[in-house]
Amino acid sequence: MLFGLLIHTFFDGIAIASGFLVSNWLGWVVFLAVFLHKMPEGFTVASVMLASGASRRVAFTASALLGAATLAGVLTMGLLQQYVNVGLPLSAGVTLYVAATDLLPEVNKEHGVKMPLLVFVGVALLFVLDTLFKGV
Ligand SMILES: [Zn+2]
Repeated sequence: MLFGLLIHTFFDGIAIASGFLVSNWLGWVVFLAVFLHKMPEGFTVASVMLASGASRRVAFTASALLGAATLAGVLTMGLLQQYVNVGLPLSAGVTLYVAATDLLPEVNKEHGVKMPLLVFVGVALLFVLDTLFKGV
């Protein structure tokens, strides 16, 4: 699990840096999206580590590694700026893969309309941000 999350968080970093290489607007939108799910990501990995019997120190280290992997992604894209045409679609693909295979199946397990509605609010938020800030 940790290895998979490290790959994911590395591409979070690739996505942030690629976004900023395209435009400040895209960079900030991607940064906000990554920032908002960093805490749940850290809690998830720490909780799973603790539940599997690891020490608090190991759980904390695992969370810190996720943060470090994101920074490594940002630095990698910073060094390989000419490959933004690869970095952006690759990180988008990794994100879509996680969303389609892990997140949306969980949404579909929920009863009622609350969870699907929240997903649509999240999608709508992007359009609101686009309308309000793209020209800025
Ligand atoms: Zn992430």
